[in-house]
Amino acid sequence: MANIRQYIPVSQPLLDDNEADNILAALQEKAISGLFGNALQQFESGFSEYCESQYGVSTSSGTTALHLALSILDIGQDDEVLISSYTNMATFFAACYQGAIPIPIDSEIGTWNLNPELIEEKITVNTKAIIVVHIFGHPVDMDSIMEIARKHDLFVIEDCAQAHGAEYKGKKVGSIGDVGCFSFYANKIITTGEGGMVVTSKKELAERARSLKSLAFGIDNKFMHRELGYNYRMSNIQAAIGCSQLSKIDHIITRKREVAEQYNSNLSNVVQVMLPIEKPECKSVYWMYHIVHQENTDISAKEVMNKLLEIGIETRPGFIPFNMQDIFIKRHMANIPDCPVANYLATNSYYLPSGPEISSEEVDYISENMKMILKS
Ligand SMILES: *Cc1c(COP(=O)(O)O)cnc(C)c1O
Repeated sequence: MANIRQYIPVSQPLLDDNEADNILAALQEKAISGLFGNALQQFESGFSEYCESQYGVSTSSGTTALHLALSILDIGQDDEVLISSYTNMATFFAACYQGAIPIPIDSEIGTWNLNPELIEEKITVNTKAIIVVHIFGHPVDMDSIMEIARKHDLFVIEDCAQAHGAEYKGKKVGSIGDVGCFSFYANKIITTGEGGMVVTSKKELAERARSLKSLAFGIDNKFMHRELGYNYRMSNIQAAIGCSQLSKIDHIITRKREVAEQYNSNLSNVVQVMLPIEKPECKSVYWMYHIVHQENTDISAKEVMNKLLEIGIETRPGFIPFNMQDIFIKRHMANIPDCPVANYLATNSYYLPSGPEISSEEVDYISENMKMILKS
């Protein structure tokens, strides 16, 4: 069949000669590490501007961006941090690196983002911050979050690792809370291979992040270090890829939205599944096309995934919320708040191929097979 690959992966990055040219330029300048290079500056200023934030500090990954965010806000031992339970475990790990206590907040039905109505009851004298995750590229209800944060004097970190370019009430995600954290792993909206960025409009926070990510070198004497630092630097070669990717971001997001729209219309009559939604005040970037089985369907999510794989269509199961993880339960045996909605997603959801490279014929092919499998 024309335009339909034998094996359709969940996602592949959009790479071409432009990335190769940029990498070559970095090599020719001999700017290959993370301390200097034109691409680094260009990528940081270009991406932070794109995110409507004043400062961008590149990092080695989304995980290290999150860890830096917690460090620069001085969130430490035994501080409680309220976190979306339904997320990539990196969000949870970042809080653990600081000795903080992650408190899971369950998802709302529909966007599957953390449910703002469940936050206030979890706030104690030890609560320092909320980490929201714009899951699958759909923005969190940020007005509610910011109101709670102001009322209780909490910091807000936005984990935007899946949501580059998403908008809440016309504002880019990452620019609404105190700090926004991005990942540029290969399957994210744009990639640098491995990489991340902290964005903020607060100068002191940006300066501290820039210092901490590079061993906190001294100012008068470089080797008299200011504090305990890390090497979380992105290399100039990675940034060179990032510059090229940034020039494609609008195209990628447009394509992601078209793919989601096509799936939505193809699958709208399939009663067994809930399709992703987009709230009117939001612009989702549909990082992955995530669908959720209704309760008591005659075929399980796992069976659908297996059948799709048999015909060369890759899928991924939903995340396992951190309250369900053994390491979480072992660390915090007492009073683990349960998250029934997020728990449900762990076994009843998956995402379909939706990378920027997918053809519309493939989307139709996958949809037809979904319909056939779900009818059987
Ligand atoms: C990918 C991801 C991360 C981690 O980013 P890495 O670059 O893989 O370290 C963190 N949070 C979320 C929500 C993610 O999807």
